[in-house]
Amino acid sequence: MRFRELAERYEELERTTKRLEMRATIARAVREAPRADLAKLLYLSQGLLRPEYEGVELGVADSLARRAIAIAAGVSPEEVGRRAQASGDLGRTAEELLRDRPKPLDPGELSIDEVYDGFLGIARTHGPGSTDAKVDRLASLLARATPLEARYLIRFALGTLRVGVREMTILDALSEAFGAGDPAAREQIEDAFNLTSDIGLVAEVLAERGLSGLRELRLTVGRPVRPMLAERARSLEEILTRMGGRAAFEFKYDGLRVQAHLAADGSVRLFSRRLEEIGPQFPELAPALVASVRQRPSIIEGECIPVDPETGEMRPFQEVSRRRGRKHEVTRLAEEVPVVLVVFDVLLAGGESLLAEPMPKRRAALESLVRPAERVQLAVHRPVASPEEAAAFFDEAVAAGAEGIMAKSLAPESVYRPGARGFWWIKYKREYVANLDDSIDGVVVGGFYGRGRRAGRFGSYLLAAYNPTADRFESFTRVGSGFDDRMLERLAERLRPWEVDERPPGVDTGLAPDRWIRPQLVLEVKGAELTLSPVHRAAEGRFRPGAGLALRFPRFTGRLRDDKGPTDATTSDELAEMYARQARTLSKSTAAPPPPDEGPEAPSSASERGPRAPKGV
Ligand code: AMP
Repeated sequence: MRFRELAERYEELERTTKRLEMRATIARAVREAPRADLAKLLYLSQGLLRPEYEGVELGVADSLARRAIAIAAGVSPEEVGRRAQASGDLGRTAEELLRDRPKPLDPGELSIDEVYDGFLGIARTHGPGSTDAKVDRLASLLARATPLEARYLIRFALGTLRVGVREMTILDALSEAFGAGDPAAREQIEDAFNLTSDIGLVAEVLAERGLSGLRELRLTVGRPVRPMLAERARSLEEILTRMGGRAAFEFKYDGLRVQAHLAADGSVRLFSRRLEEIGPQFPELAPALVASVRQRPSIIEGECIPVDPETGEMRPFQEVSRRRGRKHEVTRLAEEVPVVLVVFDVLLAGGESLLAEPMPKRRAALESLVRPAERVQLAVHRPVASPEEAAAFFDEAVAAGAEGIMAKSLAPESVYRPGARGFWWIKYKREYVANLDDSIDGVVVGGFYGRGRRAGRFGSYLLAAYNPTADRFESFTRVGSGFDDRMLERLAERLRPWEVDERPPGVDTGLAPDRWIRPQLVLEVKGAELTLSPVHRAAEGRFRPGAGLALRFPRFTGRLRDDKGPTDATTSDELAEMYARQARTLSKSTAAPPPPDEGPEAPSSASERGPRAPKGV
């Protein structure tokens, strides 16, 4: 398949924000692509070269791209820089410059294969002289590209493809192309993706063997499974009722979720909740796991938590986050901030998949597989059959420094469900008891310029919840307090590559921020209460026609949820559940119920001064 055809699809995608149209466009590309190109096409369309968990990075900076464009267009890199400054988009600049180029070589003949291999070559170029080699490779792709192709080649190289193709939309498109849009087929395809975390692989199997081929996909060491997720409940009593009067309770540890893959040869890979490889940040865990896990190959899951080097007691989550992302100093930090992996589930034991086994069997398998030691421990786990036992366990968990409890169903259906959130696991946290202010993880989708001291840069951000049914990011608040100057600066820098001129596809809000930001970064916020708002769109229409949910008096907690991807943010359904719970709690207490409609939220100037929650909330 020619890359030209794919570039035309990208152009169509760029023009729409409607999910149905996007799905149809991708489905068309999927149908048209020869089998050999299918996986490559899907990776490229997501801005990737390999499934995300492999972490393949291109390593192309703006300056490198400018040099490549200069060579292909026959102008100076400075000229490219000048033009790019005017357009604000190097992809457009490349397009324009190539349009004026004197004599293109066979334009429009580039194949997807050549583009893919070209980029893979760039990703694999390392070491001294690699920048020049990368420039050459990129320039030789551009030399053969049409202007439109150049726009997308450059954006891909810089990680700013912006066509808005997310996994859920691709899964929809695959089910349209291979399952005639049948909901059962859609589910089967999503299951296969949740198991393998590799859309390219799923598409290839579909193309080769059809839907029935998906059943042959297996759990494999080195290929992470999308983690099973928990629902929340209002009270311990509710948990017991939902679980049929009995459940297993575990401590809910506050750290980083880790999926540990131990291969037969003794090599170990650790994946985060977002399926990023994080083994190198915790070098002490691999040997500890090899010593503690009795059989291989195996896959186990746990929470990586910081502990006090003196006492072995749990420490606050923030300390473990200090160990993320640092390439240097790993050894020093390993001593300063030691961690323990507290394991709570097993997916594969000695090569045998346990995904289809109910939780009690998996727990028993975990206990015989893992020999607890200093760095690898078993999550505290106890059967609970009455509200009194539940309350006692909860108090014990909180006293030990845990965030709360995680209840796990004992039913025969309590199998491991990759990627699914359900009532087989229910979390119940400390905050729920203290007051209403459970924290919310919101995705940044826009920025508002500040005033006064914050003039000239972002002073507040528009946050959205994720709606998985519609694959949409629905705004729920504008947050300007809880940031210090350094944090604002750091955030602005982190968000800059994702700033765009127009509302990104899938973002739904009634507000118009000064700059739109593609949904990438997740921030943790707390607020006073949830109210109905005409401008926010989370769970819109659920409680009143035309009104969405808004968080009043939001405050950033200081915690960047780098461990969460945009679709791991708090969902609109979760917000709706919190709103319903809050209304019930308030109607039971003496406090007045939340005002039905307080307008959008606190005005920005007030929120930048950092309003306090009203008394008694
Ligand atoms: P949350 O991030 O608030 O949605 O809570 C779910 C997370 O709690 C999981 O993804 C795990 O990282 C973490 N967790 C802590 N302790 C446990 C446990 N005993 N069982 C399962 N998950 C746990």
